[in-house]
Amino acid sequence: MSSNLSIKKKCEFCGVEFDAKTLYTRYCSHTCNRKHYKKLQRDEKIQSFQEVQNQSEQELQTFDPSLQQKEFLSVGEVATLLGASRRTIQRMISKGTLKIGKIGRRTIVKRKEIDNLFN
Ligand SMILES: [Zn+2]
Repeated sequence: MSSNLSIKKKCEFCGVEFDAKTLYTRYCSHTCNRKHYKKLQRDEKIQSFQEVQNQSEQELQTFDPSLQQKEFLSVGEVATLLGASRRTIQRMISKGTLKIGKIGRRTIVKRKEIDNLFN
């Protein structure tokens, strides 16, 4: 039973020291692994949103000028304009971050509401 490796490692999520079985173990438990993974995903999202914020002015200038001038945009157009996915925009809408209007079954976003996001 001497083949059992025991490496002292620090959990990347909670910081607790534990005995790792392999060099590649990064977490003390499966829970930490999962939680850290989720945290990373969240951080990434926050970061990409901040990047969009930083780039938005620059992008607006180089972007299709007709989109910039439109007073009402579709969800897809908002996504294009912000360099985000439609899903991200849909999520913002369902969270109430982005206010929308409806024309029949179509969802429209007022240009001003997008500007408000960056205020
Ligand atoms: Zn841990």
